[in-house]
Amino acid sequence: MKPPDDRLEAIRARIQQALKRSGRAGPVRILAATKGRSPAEIRAALEAGIDLIGENIVQEAAAKFPALPPVERHFIGHLQTNKVKKALTLFDCVQSVDSWRLALKLEREAAKAGRRLPVLLEVNPAGEAGKFGLPPEETLALAREVTRLEHLSLQGLMALAPYAEDPEAARPHFRTVRRLFEELARLPGAEAHLLSLGMSHDFEIAVEEGANLVRLGTALFGPRPSGTR
Ligand SMILES: *Cc1c(COP(=O)(O)O)cnc(C)c1O
Repeated sequence: MKPPDDRLEAIRARIQQALKRSGRAGPVRILAATKGRSPAEIRAALEAGIDLIGENIVQEAAAKFPALPPVERHFIGHLQTNKVKKALTLFDCVQSVDSWRLALKLEREAAKAGRRLPVLLEVNPAGEAGKFGLPPEETLALAREVTRLEHLSLQGLMALAPYAEDPEAARPHFRTVRRLFEELARLPGAEAHLLSLGMSHDFEIAVEEGANLVRLGTALFGPRPSGTR
C-alpha cells in the first residue's frame, strides 16, 4: 500500500484551495474514517499526521482500539441504544445523535460515568428514505432539548449528502445543514463549533459550504476492500 503521507498532503492542498475559493479561513480538521482498516493501516495514518479517527461500528472499534496509540476517537455510525454504554468507554464524541431516545440514553450513561460527552446531531438533509439522521425541520427542536441535558455538550452537526456521480449535487444539501448550524450556534447553551460534512467524494464542496471537519476514508487509505461499505 502506498503510504498515506502523500495522500494526506494532497488532501490538505485541496482543502486549502477550497477555502480560498470560498474566501473562508480554516482550519478544517480531517477525520480518518477507519471502517474496514487494520490497526497497522490506522497507525500509518497517525504517523502521517492524522490526529482524529472515526469508526462506524462499536464492536469493530472495541477490537481495534487497544492496538492503537492515544488519538481522538469519534463515533460516526448509527448507534443502537444497547451499545451506548460500551460506546462511552471507546469514544470521545458521538457525531450521530439522531433521536431524543438516543440522546437520553447517552445522557444517563454519561452521568453514570461522571463525564460530559461531546455530541453532534446527525441531519438527513435530502430526506433520503432508509438513511439515518434527523429531518432538517426537526433538528433545531431536538437541539433545544439536548442543550438542556447536563451531561451532553452539543457541539454541532454532522450530515451525509446523497451519493451522486457529480459532487456538485451535494452543495444544496450541505448548504441546508450549514444554515441549520448557524441557527444552532445562536441557541443559548449550545457550544456549536463543529460542522462535520463531506467525505472523499465531495469534501471540497463541503469545505466551500462551511464544513470545518471532513470525514475521509478512501481518499486517505485507498479503495476499501471489497465487501465493505
Ligand atoms: C465511511 C464513512 C465516511 C468516509 O467515506 P469515504 O467515502 O471512504 O471517504 C465518512 N462518514 C461516514 C459516516 C462514513 O461511514
